Amino acid sequence: MEALLQQVADGSLHGIKKYFTLFHASHCYHCGSFLKRIKTMVSVMRDRKENIAPDAAMDRLKAQIKDLDSGTK
Ligand SMILES: [Zn+2]
Repeated sequence: MEALLQQVADGSLHGIKKYFTLFHASHCYHCGSFLKRIKTMVSVMRDRKENIAPDAAMDRLKAQIKDLDSGTK
């Protein structure tokens, strides 16, 4: 399941598999929070391509994951 979620997050999954995965993630707490985390990571990776220093990107990632943790419980 987590491999499928990664593919949703990076945009490489399409069609029925993507819908199935998103449907599952919307009903499964574990997969829903995993998907949120991986989407956050993908967006930070994209930022890094725009020449953000790795340390800054890592700090931002940690801060965003912390936000997710405090927001979902
Ligand atoms: Zn699940």
